[in-house]
Amino acid sequence: MLASPVSPPSTFDAEAVRASVPALHQSVNGRPLVYLDNGATTQKPRPVIDRIVRYYERENANVHRGVHRLSQDATDAMEAARERVGAFVGVDAREVVFTRGTTEAVNLVASTWGRENVRSGDELVVTMDAHHANFVPWQMLAEAVGARLRVVPVREDGSLDRDAYAAALSSKTRLVALGHVSNALGTVHPVADLVAMAHDAGALALVDGAQALAHVPVDVRAIGADFYVASAHKAYGPMGIGALFARADLLEAMPPYQFGGDMIDEVTVERTTFAAPPSKFEAGTPHVEGIVGMAAALDWLDGLGRDAVFAHEHDVLAYATARLDALGGIRLVGTAPGKVSVLSFLVDGAHPYDVGALLDQQGVAVRTGNHCAQPLMTHLGVPGTVRATFAVYNTRADADVLVAAVAKAQAMLVG
Ligand code: PMP
Repeated sequence: MLASPVSPPSTFDAEAVRASVPALHQSVNGRPLVYLDNGATTQKPRPVIDRIVRYYERENANVHRGVHRLSQDATDAMEAARERVGAFVGVDAREVVFTRGTTEAVNLVASTWGRENVRSGDELVVTMDAHHANFVPWQMLAEAVGARLRVVPVREDGSLDRDAYAAALSSKTRLVALGHVSNALGTVHPVADLVAMAHDAGALALVDGAQALAHVPVDVRAIGADFYVASAHKAYGPMGIGALFARADLLEAMPPYQFGGDMIDEVTVERTTFAAPPSKFEAGTPHVEGIVGMAAALDWLDGLGRDAVFAHEHDVLAYATARLDALGGIRLVGTAPGKVSVLSFLVDGAHPYDVGALLDQQGVAVRTGNHCAQPLMTHLGVPGTVRATFAVYNTRADADVLVAAVAKAQAMLVG
């Protein structure tokens, strides 16, 4: 038994949390599932599942257009959820645009605000550890309009090279696209500072909060982001729904993203005028069950106490990191101080994919590969990593199973 160099477990009742998440209670390959792929998507707690079922059992109708009772109920539920989701990150409901997720939210900004405001000779700044969803849309925009994409490197530990970031900013910068928390390494970037630097240079800032929403406090106003984007499914909510949080004056000025029902003011044969934001950006029948499910997920998280949740996750990550490192023959990839949720590593002498497959045989679900961050992997000179990502329902016992499974994989692959 390895000695733990970290503090004893907190009093947070993770077992009670686990009990309310049905998918955790199953066997995989004859072993109890240990689910450590939360960076890809989280499992859903019973209150979120129940909320979606209740929507379909009692409230389902198309929203906004109906005079009948169910349509009004569905509309009320959707708009109450908009308030709730906005409040979770500290913005008004009118600044919440529902999207399919982070990816669509970034694409929305790139193809509306971006097409209107970025010209030949302008510059866009992104970071080397960006998820492809917050990299490729800017690369494509730059290519389309003749702008320059500047990519800020990260240091060996995964933290952003602040001097390089400062040097990349100039009066030519139109927008910086930052990640709040790196999905590949777990680095928490000092986004409020970085946004302030972008503003000083006269640029706007978009922050990708896909990995932040469930793991660090998010206050969009305090961060100062002009655009903040996130996905529900990484924060215990349903797939296919997320949000763009954007300054009201920007939404007002931006052209629509898609055209159709629900986003118009008046349509004549000659011309069309558009609804006010956020409707202007929500063409077509919305994903209402996703929207109410997203609000239920954030309610659930708040009900657990965000501070207690984050402290618990910190404890489990620190414990898992120390125990894994103590095995020897392990390279931790990404060790920035204050990192959250993510334990990315390599087993010396073994390919990440082989390690992942052997972990799966032992019931441990992790992700292997480049984590949609190929420029980062190339920059760090690694083929990819094995990535375990922890959530509120993971425990030190899960970390013990992971470490034992890695030790077994190591013995089989490296000898
Ligand atoms: N950004 C980050 C940091 C992510 O981790 C992810 C999902 N892996 C995305 C963006 C894309 O999110 P989605 O697939 O939900 O649109």
